[in-house]
Amino acid sequence: MIEIILLFMTFLVLGYVLYPFYQSRYRWAYIPRNEEDPQVQQLQEAKREVLSAIKEIEFEHQMGKLSHADYEKLRDEYRKKALWILQELDRFNHPTRDVDRVEEEIRAYRYKLKHSGQSSIRFCPDCGASVEPFYKFCVQCGRQLLPSEQGG
Ligand SMILES: [Zn+2]
Repeated sequence: MIEIILLFMTFLVLGYVLYPFYQSRYRWAYIPRNEEDPQVQQLQEAKREVLSAIKEIEFEHQMGKLSHADYEKLRDEYRKKALWILQELDRFNHPTRDVDRVEEEIRAYRYKLKHSGQSSIRFCPDCGASVEPFYKFCVQCGRQLLPSEQGG
């Protein structure tokens, strides 16, 4: 009987410990491939609408109902919209790109900080990690920080 209780408790603890990992993995794997996701559905619906709108203005232009200038203006607008939708859909299919983008933004922000002279914080020239002014080595990548690279 005690074995069963121990086994049960082991599973309970394991489940408790692994649950967040499972959940986050599940989330990452789930959203991009899920066609039922309301946002993806909305985007796909919008894509269909834009494509049919483009067909419609093409048809109306051919019928002479739409002037050439109006047609080109509308077509460009719809094309921009379609491009945006495709990019958004692409983002759902490649969620890691978002992470790359955020990292890039952080790096750009740090670069800006470093060159704005408003901060006494130093940044590693290799990985961009913030380091204390008196550090001789980067805490993140271990790169040696030369005095000439100080300041900023
Ligand atoms: Zn570094």
